[in-house]
Amino acid sequence: MDLSLDGKIALVTGSTKGIGKAIALALAAEGATVVINGRSQQSVDEALASFPKGSHGVAADVGTGEGAAALVKAVEAIGPVDILVNNAGIFEPKEFPEIPDADWTKLFEVNVMSGVRLSRALLPGMIARNWGRIIFIASESAINIPQEMVHYGVSKTAQLGLSRGIAEYTKGTAVTVNAVLPGPTLSEGVEDFVDSLGAQHGQSRTEFEAEFFKTVRPTSLLQRFATTDEVANFVTFLASPRAAAINGAALRVDGGTVKSAF
Ligand code: NAD
Repeated sequence: MDLSLDGKIALVTGSTKGIGKAIALALAAEGATVVINGRSQQSVDEALASFPKGSHGVAADVGTGEGAAALVKAVEAIGPVDILVNNAGIFEPKEFPEIPDADWTKLFEVNVMSGVRLSRALLPGMIARNWGRIIFIASESAINIPQEMVHYGVSKTAQLGLSRGIAEYTKGTAVTVNAVLPGPTLSEGVEDFVDSLGAQHGQSRTEFEAEFFKTVRPTSLLQRFATTDEVANFVTFLASPRAAAINGAALRVDGGTVKSAF
């Protein structure tokens, strides 16, 4: 299937590694001009080495108003953004009684307000040009709020509401706004998490993975971590003109972790 992404400009936040990098690489492989983003110039430069010539990188912290504004300015100097993937996101397991206001605020700034600020800046141009894609990378945790990180789950639920709310502005246009809910996915961030928890319990990654899906995510039908490419494949289709009829939706790529048929 030709995804017809030639000539499209795509901005993927938090794309120096993990799911975001896989999405940006997949979009680039389909012909899009990608702009990758991370917090430090060094991480952006290192990641950019894996991308085709003509790709761009902008170092900016999307978890702050100034960072998001600087990113918008830099990306608009490259060209009009056709595809915005709000991927940057952070998580940290912590028991609810121990999560201070500062952690709640930080998670909301990075996971929710980044998408608010970038979508607010870039949606009007997409509507004016009558084509665009905004995709929020939420999580199955938006529905199955994890007890060990309630703040993360709630920030992901907020993304679903935000995505659907913004989609209302696209009525009658060729712009779409959707949320994707990955399940447990073996990104670098999750790899570090798995290896450090596994080491604490004297388990290899394979042993940890088997135990994790037996006890922590027993509803997963996949019973393994998804690869970042498996998530990126779907996001790339959703970003393409082929997915024109999908709008205002929350779409699961969660290996069946959410135990619901719809
Ligand atoms: P990761 O930690 O492997 O990578 C995150 C990327 O975001 C990195 O490039 C990091 O530099 C960047 N980043 C973090 N904060 C940033 C900021 N303030 N400004 C700019 N860049 C920033 O993460 P991942 O596992 O690939 O997760 C990506 C997204 O997918 C997140 O929104 C996460 O919530 C979501 N998600 C992940 C999983 C999973 O199991 N990995 C499951 C469901 C949803």
